[in-house]
Amino acid sequence: MSNITFELASYVDALRSIIYIPHHDFFKIERIIKEVANNEFQIIEFNNAYGYVDFYTKLTKDECTLEEFLKYADDITNPPSFILLKDIHGELQNPKIQSLLKNIAYKNSTVENFYCTIFIVSTKLCIPDEIESLITIVEIESPNELEIRNLIYNFAEIQQMTISENIIDEMALSFKGLSEFEINQILNLAYQSNGDISADDKDLILKEKEQFIKKSGMLEIVNFKETIDDIGGLENLKKWLVRKGKIFNHLEHALKAGVDVPKGLMLVGMPGCGKSLAAKATAKLFNVPLLRLDIGKLYGKYVGESEENMRKALKIAEAVSPCILWVDEIEKSFSGIGDSGGGNSVTTRLFGTFLTWMQEKNSTVFVVATANDISSLPPEFLRKGRFDELFSVDLPNKEERRKIIDIHLKKRGKYNLNIDTIEIVKATEGYNGADLESVVKDAIETIYLENRDILTTEDLLNVITYTKSITASLKDKIDYIRKSMEKVDIKPASFEEYLYL
Ligand code: ATP
Repeated sequence: MSNITFELASYVDALRSIIYIPHHDFFKIERIIKEVANNEFQIIEFNNAYGYVDFYTKLTKDECTLEEFLKYADDITNPPSFILLKDIHGELQNPKIQSLLKNIAYKNSTVENFYCTIFIVSTKLCIPDEIESLITIVEIESPNELEIRNLIYNFAEIQQMTISENIIDEMALSFKGLSEFEINQILNLAYQSNGDISADDKDLILKEKEQFIKKSGMLEIVNFKETIDDIGGLENLKKWLVRKGKIFNHLEHALKAGVDVPKGLMLVGMPGCGKSLAAKATAKLFNVPLLRLDIGKLYGKYVGESEENMRKALKIAEAVSPCILWVDEIEKSFSGIGDSGGGNSVTTRLFGTFLTWMQEKNSTVFVVATANDISSLPPEFLRKGRFDELFSVDLPNKEERRKIIDIHLKKRGKYNLNIDTIEIVKATEGYNGADLESVVKDAIETIYLENRDILTTEDLLNVITYTKSITASLKDKIDYIRKSMEKVDIKPASFEEYLYL
């Protein structure tokens, strides 16, 4: 008996009346429910599309409504029954449906010889407050490596083909995080297009994974070309990333040698100083896709829906792993938790779900969280065990400003040795990386409009005279961020300033 079958069987024994399984792999769930029923329970099924159907043949018995079906089901006393309700989440707000469900649940726990467990299986988790206390939510994990291997073996057997152990090893890793249904679908697709299963099909798996990331609407795949060489300064951070990159690029080898899977990093500090740039460069360095998680998009209107969305998003990230999961402006999503007011309870629960996942995860999802203001984040976040490291990002020092200017000049083919970078650096105290980039861009635009080719120090200094630095335009915000960073002891992302400038 698998763990999940055992878990469900124990809930049935404990007379839990309504078990809600948020999942889209009906094929797999039905098999598990059949195992739990073990021929001792009859299974009657209502399907949102076809009404009352035969569980085994899927033939429609009666095109009734859910209300009519539940009234009928309410009469069942013998033999013990499982009522399987598929995709009915849209109906759960209806007070009549709620009453009928409550009625069956009530009979289950009070009427002698009435054994009836309701299974709601739906792609969406929507539980109205009125029936929340009657419902037990059961999460079905995606197949583990051994189960994936078995799925591939089964597929090969059905198609009467042999797949080499090497390919099975590779496929089993890539399939991680996908459901049984999705795995079978991809195997079928690969087989239909090439007549066999080969190492090349890993691309197909990646494409399929990208598809369901897009469909989920919760994560965004970020396309970028920035590398670590595009970051001026932040040398401590870059050194640390190169080190972790060496592990991430040889994960299997490193794990065998006893190295822990890198978990993630948090970058806190000044706006426009390269935090997002660093998230992109990390993905390039680690050679993996970059997924952005927008926590604001996870909020739902039903009880438990937001946490469920968070779990789904994290599962999707695991499915795509190895990958970078970038949570931008994380303090905006989780601020206020732990205040005397307790913060918003949904936010607190979302935060809890994320934190537990961070703490327990052993997947190869590397989290890069970025934030401006650390003071509004709950302290639990900063504890060891969540992130491997936290770095503070300050406004660029002189040496860093020089490097940033050089990078942006070179990027646009305008770097020349006659530019007196020391003069520029002196004139840009308090500028962030984005300001410096904008100075370079404006100066290049000006010489283009004046039909000149060579950029001079004066061109840059001219633009600087009318470009307000972030420190001048957002003085209060910058002071506030600096003060909040001083209160916590985190590693600076930059090296100490060099003395020669
Ligand atoms: P925010 O906190 O506002 O999100 P951020 O720290 O994430 O800001 P970025 O988005 O990384 O800032 O920076 C904006 C742009 O400024 C970058 O795309 C890059 O062109 C330039 N820039 C910022 N910092 C650097 C840097 N250290 N080196 C090179 N370019 C930089």
